[in-house]
Amino acid sequence: MTSELQQQQPIVLAIAGFDPSAGAGIIADIRTIQQLRCAAVAAITSITYQNERTYAGAIHQTAESVRAQVSGIVAENRIVAVKIGMLPTAEVVREVAQLIREFNLPLSVVDPVMQSTSGGKLMDDDAFAVFVTELLPGVRVITPNIPEAEKLAGLNIRDEDSMRQAAARIRELGARAVLIKGGHVKQEAGARRQEPAEVNRKAIDLLDDDGEVTAFQGNWIDAPNTRGTGCMLSSAIACGLARGDELKRAVAAAKEFVTETIKNSKFRIHN
Ligand code: PLP
Repeated sequence: MTSELQQQQPIVLAIAGFDPSAGAGIIADIRTIQQLRCAAVAAITSITYQNERTYAGAIHQTAESVRAQVSGIVAENRIVAVKIGMLPTAEVVREVAQLIREFNLPLSVVDPVMQSTSGGKLMDDDAFAVFVTELLPGVRVITPNIPEAEKLAGLNIRDEDSMRQAAARIRELGARAVLIKGGHVKQEAGARRQEPAEVNRKAIDLLDDDGEVTAFQGNWIDAPNTRGTGCMLSSAIACGLARGDELKRAVAAAKEFVTETIKNSKFRIHN
């Protein structure tokens, strides 16, 4: 039976991977959705083994498992927004795309998760092609970071101009809107292996919604741990959309939420 809370609050479905250390993945999604006073339901695509520093592997779910989880949820809940995170295999991507069509679910926010912060591969190579052709068309907003946007658009991003070009190309693949995250946080010295791109240092996030482009410029924040910020941001956008906000407003509010959460976390982002 649907809980009383779920009847009062818009219901957001998170389809994502499980990170047992709770920094990222479905725990971060659920935490965010509840903090933003929406009701969370969730389906797990993969059980990963990781902590703050190390990614030790995963057991991915099958199409059957994902289908069974989602069909149980939609049978008794009115889903207002869907946030999609880790999709590890071509089989799981295909099944999620099929479930979205079959149950007429809103394809609200997709975070194209490809790699964990500790370097673990979260999406197979052959899953990427299926992701682009079967899931991307119809997405309300996709939220790649710079490496993900470069892969989707097939070009290098070094400045705001190339960020705009990449966003336009990704929209051509079928997403209605693209939010490219140029970096809303600065990692501790030594945490980055490469010098960040110019847009990264300036912490610009660029939203292209049906051709209307908005650049959000934020201040860098020194944070000991930035894992899970992509999960939080995409879940927070889904909550804004679930409440009926227009996309630009949902993105602005979600960025604010992530920034405040980082500022308030002394040691770990989820404390
Ligand atoms: N989903 C899972 C299961 C993960 O393990 C990770 C990163 O480790 C992510 C998503 C992406 O996390 P972030 O929010 O740091 O991009």
